[in-house]
Amino acid sequence: MTESPATLFIDGAWVPSSTGETRTITCPADGSEVGVVSEAGAEDVERAILAARAAFERGEWSGTPAAQRGDFLLRVADRLAERKDEFARAEAQDTGKRLVEAEGDMDDIASCFRYFGKIADQDPGRLVDAGDAAVISRVVREPVGVCGMITPWNFPLLQAAWKIAPALAAGNAFVLKPAELTPHTTMLMMEVLDELGLPKGVANLVLGDGGTVGAPLSSHPEIDLVSFTGGLVTGRKIAESAAKGIKKVALELGGKNPNVVFADADYEAALDNALNAGFLDSGLVCSAGTRLIIHESIAERFVDDLVARAEGIVMGGPFDESAETGPLISKAHREKVTDYVKRGVEAGARLRTGGHWGGPEHEKGFFYAPTVLDRCTRDNPAVIEEGFGPVITVETFSTEQEAIEIANHTEYGLAGAVWTSDAGTANRVSRALRHGTIWINDYHPYLPQAEWGGFKMSGFGRELGPTGLEEYTEAKHIYQNTEPAVSGWFPRKG
Ligand code: NAD
Repeated sequence: MTESPATLFIDGAWVPSSTGETRTITCPADGSEVGVVSEAGAEDVERAILAARAAFERGEWSGTPAAQRGDFLLRVADRLAERKDEFARAEAQDTGKRLVEAEGDMDDIASCFRYFGKIADQDPGRLVDAGDAAVISRVVREPVGVCGMITPWNFPLLQAAWKIAPALAAGNAFVLKPAELTPHTTMLMMEVLDELGLPKGVANLVLGDGGTVGAPLSSHPEIDLVSFTGGLVTGRKIAESAAKGIKKVALELGGKNPNVVFADADYEAALDNALNAGFLDSGLVCSAGTRLIIHESIAERFVDDLVARAEGIVMGGPFDESAETGPLISKAHREKVTDYVKRGVEAGARLRTGGHWGGPEHEKGFFYAPTVLDRCTRDNPAVIEEGFGPVITVETFSTEQEAIEIANHTEYGLAGAVWTSDAGTANRVSRALRHGTIWINDYHPYLPQAEWGGFKMSGFGRELGPTGLEEYTEAKHIYQNTEPAVSGWFPRKG
């Protein structure tokens, strides 16, 4: 048996698992071994939660002036920028995504820390007019306490950063459980937080699977808030479990995101971005624009062009400079995508390209060819379900109203785009779409200053922006009577 390495970060120390369990992490592009990490047991998770609680109660971090907490986050951003290559390589190896994409993720992570670093001390609270000159009434924001954070494998450190940065800015302690397949960059992040002097116990990292390590983070009485990014089924379980303990919950779940193209759109830009929307990072993006909804007058030409361009996409491993996209995360995931496409075709979609394994080393790496499913109806399972792979479904519309109806015909509501050269159409459609982010004549950009999150079954709560910080706080009303007086409600008798 492999000796359990000290890869759990609990109460300011790197420790092995109490159970001795380990997991070998492999690169999904070629199956090569990336490293061996320890998998936490229930006892380790318990220790991590109690360490976070004790750190929070000691108040070293929550009591640090907000401006200093902000400075700390700015230093984290600087450190990440300095160690960007190392972080990006680790992310690329764990996920199989291209190095250049992982580098972009690291830039985004540094920006996220900078943003929350800058706004950490910007909320002075609010004075409320109590209607009585003797009363000072104010509303202040305080940290929630101990946060349980559970994150997925597609943007391992980015999704964690969207939680860590605001949680620390607000003065919380936390326990983070990254996806079991992609732990390395979160380990590097703990190293940075530790080296920059975060008080012990404030940040804790437990590695392992959802059932053993993730579940206690939504049920343990010492967790005050659980913030989850991942799939709908897991999100529902976490919400149910958290409800029993009346915990605060933030859920960032999947999407089935419409990319609506009107006939008056800039054709080349819309075409290019339709590829980007659906196939970037092999479609392993929660906001991927995998539902192309296109005006019937341009559909045939557009889909022909899309198919031709999709067939030219080069797949390859993280360090292959000719590669334009990478593999899926695992064998099981590729089987899921294979089945999803099969069911879509059985339900009447026309397979225009893809629908099979691809890539240079598809026996060892989990590549799946960019796939286009044309002539889809709204009830096709490939249109309804989040396939989470490089698969674009095509639906057509004739009127603006119909486009809106199709785009909103999903239980999800994470993101979507509208392509048109008419400002009125852009305005009306963007307001009518029931999704948390809408792009007009673009796809995928997001800003740390702007809220991110879902309508409907894409979740609740928001990350990023001022609301992303507020999620990690409690509002407290303090009512101070400067001239205490007898109220007279219950007069003294006798
Ligand atoms: P997943 O739900 O399978 O796993 C996510 C995390 O939850 C992992 O760490 C996993 O170990 C853990 N987990 C599993 N079962 C658990 C349980 N019972 N209790 C607690 N934790 C548990 O999701 P995934 O396959 O890793 O990620 C892909 C999903 O994430 C997609 O649906 C994607 O759309 C979504 N996602 C959403 C966003 C967003 O911002 N909305 C961003 C990225 C990914």
